[in-house]
Amino acid sequence: MSLTQTIKEKAMELGFAAVGVATAEPFALYAEELNRRPEMYEWGKTLSQKASVKDLNLLRFIDPAGFLPDVKSLIVVTDSYFEEDFPLSLAGKIGRCYLKGLFCPEESAHSLRRKEFKKFLQGLSMKVLYGPAPARMAGARAGVTNYGKNCFAFANEAAGKSSWVVNEPFLVDRELDPDPPTLKVGCPENCQKCLEACPTGALYSPLKMDPRKCIAFHTYFNDGEIPREVRDKMGTWVYGCDLCQEACPRNKRWLEKEKPMNQALAVRTEHLKITTLLTMSQEHYEQNVWPLLYYIRKDNRRLWQRNAAIALGNQGDPDTVPFLIKALSDPEPLVRSHVAWALGKIGGSKGRDALEKWRRQEQEDKVRQEIEAVLGH
Ligand code: SF4
Ligand code: SF4
Repeated sequence: MSLTQTIKEKAMELGFAAVGVATAEPFALYAEELNRRPEMYEWGKTLSQKASVKDLNLLRFIDPAGFLPDVKSLIVVTDSYFEEDFPLSLAGKIGRCYLKGLFCPEESAHSLRRKEFKKFLQGLSMKVLYGPAPARMAGARAGVTNYGKNCFAFANEAAGKSSWVVNEPFLVDRELDPDPPTLKVGCPENCQKCLEACPTGALYSPLKMDPRKCIAFHTYFNDGEIPREVRDKMGTWVYGCDLCQEACPRNKRWLEKEKPMNQALAVRTEHLKITTLLTMSQEHYEQNVWPLLYYIRKDNRRLWQRNAAIALGNQGDPDTVPFLIKALSDPEPLVRSHVAWALGKIGGSKGRDALEKWRRQEQEDKVRQEIEAVLGH
């Protein structure tokens, strides 16, 4: 058996959904795209100041040799994150890939599998580096995924050929047998359902997305006020957004397929209720939320509360008004201003009375303006 074959067998034995091998030359098309619209990616360079993730200077990922000078091949494994069902109460609130904890600080089946695979490759006397390559392009070059107009990678064979997968590249210093690339768009020519489903226009053209307009970006990488014109469009999403994947006919069969329930997640649904997120203590956040959904920093719990307020406003359920009224006295002005917006959105005399009352004692101009806008003063 060839070395390439041995590696592929191990990957499948560990439970990856697919594996392919690619050559390691620089990603020219990636460079072209980044250089064509640099303003859309500028924010990534100082990301760690806002979120609990590393800075994302995407230009660094163009050339794998910048990370591993002797790199000869990329081994790309594909992980399928929708083998089990997600609790219904979390639908439309938190993106599925985050709920599955693919890369979270908590130990998961995914992280253990990755570690094991890396150890195996190192045991073959290879230098191995996990991660630094454009995952979707690496997957297409390695023949495991193709492109969708919604900017997601779609599996060639795994997970019902859907986009409920992620590619994970390993850089190695060994010449392996590359697979035939599948650098193609697998969508029907006339389909535009994903573009139509995107509420903010972030997905502005086939294969083109402006991350700064994406709901997902706003939920975890915007650390201030959410622009008013975006709030309405966020619906009930508090962390991520799956709309352009859910709308896709290429995903429909897998989405609707009967699957066993993810029990580990089912027991956590109470921790992630929107009303709980709005009023949660720091302790609750650090123990029950952050270890799984970690992009928002530990010291930025107010962003979760802000997102929860918007979600409740958009949900429009009068039963949630008492939770919002309670949060109107939150110490964080960012929370209070979005709570005021949410109360205005739900409407009704209870919320209005509470805003009237609070207006007299509110010290922050921004919050008072938000309250006055709702009350029509
Ligand atoms: S994740 Fe949501 S907001 Fe972002 S591009 Fe897709 S549909 Fe649009
Ligand atoms: S919705 Fe249509 S165009 Fe968009 S990714 Fe799916 S198949 Fe392609």
